[in-house]
Amino acid sequence: MRTVEVSAAPLAALAAELDEVAARRLTAGEERARRLLAGRTVWNVSAAEGGGVGELLRTMLPYARDGGVDARWLVLDGDAEFFRIAARLHAVMHADPGDGGELGPEEMAHYDRVLGANLEEVRESVASGDVVLLHDPATAGLAPGMRRRGARVIWRCHLGTDAPDGILDRAWAFLEPAVAQADRVVLSRPTYRPGFLEADAVRVIAPSVDPLSPKNRRLDPTAVSRLLADAGLVGGAAVAEQGADGADRPAEPADGAMRAGGPVPPGARTVLQVSRWDRLKDMSGVLIAFAEGFDELPEDVHLLLAGAAVAPHDSAAADVLDGCLEIWQGLEPQVRARAHVACLPTGDREHNALLVNALQRHAAVVVQKSLAEGFGLTVTEALWKGRPVVATAVGGIQDQITDGTNGLLVPDPTDLHGVMTCVARLLAEPAFAERLGQAAHDRVRREFLSDRHLLQYVDLVDELL
Ligand code: UDP
Repeated sequence: MRTVEVSAAPLAALAAELDEVAARRLTAGEERARRLLAGRTVWNVSAAEGGGVGELLRTMLPYARDGGVDARWLVLDGDAEFFRIAARLHAVMHADPGDGGELGPEEMAHYDRVLGANLEEVRESVASGDVVLLHDPATAGLAPGMRRRGARVIWRCHLGTDAPDGILDRAWAFLEPAVAQADRVVLSRPTYRPGFLEADAVRVIAPSVDPLSPKNRRLDPTAVSRLLADAGLVGGAAVAEQGADGADRPAEPADGAMRAGGPVPPGARTVLQVSRWDRLKDMSGVLIAFAEGFDELPEDVHLLLAGAAVAPHDSAAADVLDGCLEIWQGLEPQVRARAHVACLPTGDREHNALLVNALQRHAAVVVQKSLAEGFGLTVTEALWKGRPVVATAVGGIQDQITDGTNGLLVPDPTDLHGVMTCVARLLAEPAFAERLGQAAHDRVRREFLSDRHLLQYVDLVDELL
């Protein structure tokens, strides 16, 4: 396993963001955590450093460390087959067939072998009485071994679906032997609990955003403009590369972040979706919806799809991105001139987070047209920034948005027309959009900031130790 270095972030700074009551609660929680966890290590294990789980660990662990907790982060080692199995589990947990491959005894043997090797590497480090937090299906198989080490084991599953019972059976059958051995299971929604787990083994804890992280901290409009201009995301005229045949074509990766459509013109109102290049985020659906609703949109409205630059081994993400670029190329020229696809550089994590922050603040409307979503941190991030959000009513998005109050929900995630009708309404009714944005910010402040999340962990550890 690989250790991700975690520094400390001052809890006092977080407390300063809160009202007096919440700040006092946070300080009391800090004292409790210090007492409960003295002499113990809290190990977090994830399959990757990116995505929503990475975002959460990157923001929560520094606060825990500042509170005197020896919180650490380990990332699994595995071969391509292991990560294929993990991706398959991930897809099935979202009621998606994924690559359609097996989750049978052979896959189980491989999964156990890889996790056994990972466990061996930390056997000497994990001590009896430590707390181990395993994140998502890829790590669940470590539960029995960690228990044997005398650790208290929490399995936190960030995934789930509201699909009817039975659809996830394939994944649960695979995971049950390990998950059943965890001391507690943490889920993002109560409806995600599988039948084999008693309610008292499960705690529901929603994710959160850190108001002070590079992803979410305040940025003034000048900083936003500078960040987006420097990255080539906004500025100049919307241009596309011209091929030898004279047809527009997506820019090559070497040309910077923009992959198609060139930078968004400075005065344009941007409709944004920022997500990983994952089929379930349905970036191509957003592009098609934009094209179909194009004639109803004012002329200053542009669409920007932004995702992280694709890692070389990530063929699934490359396929999704290529699919979008292909659709873009087939659009009518006037639509293409107002549709943009960007891959945000990932080499400098803080810079990448600042770009997402700036894009969300710059957007006139933020869309999240996911087909499935465990929770949907990109939604929380946009709500926190007071943006009017249009999102599909799937998974945890439903816990964040009350339709018509702090955003707009589209009931059917495949309803392209529904998405664009909501987008057009928000663009046409700025006062309504502004009202939703204000309510959105307030909702995140009340329910989805790091302090609530940290305190729920302290409660959980308290009942386990
Ligand atoms: N994200 C990012 N850079 C990118 C694209 C996405 O940092 O270029 C972040 C995004 O801001 C969010 C996380 O990745 O914090 C995605 O979390 P979410 O819960 O929305 O979805 P997941 O990736 O976990 O399915």
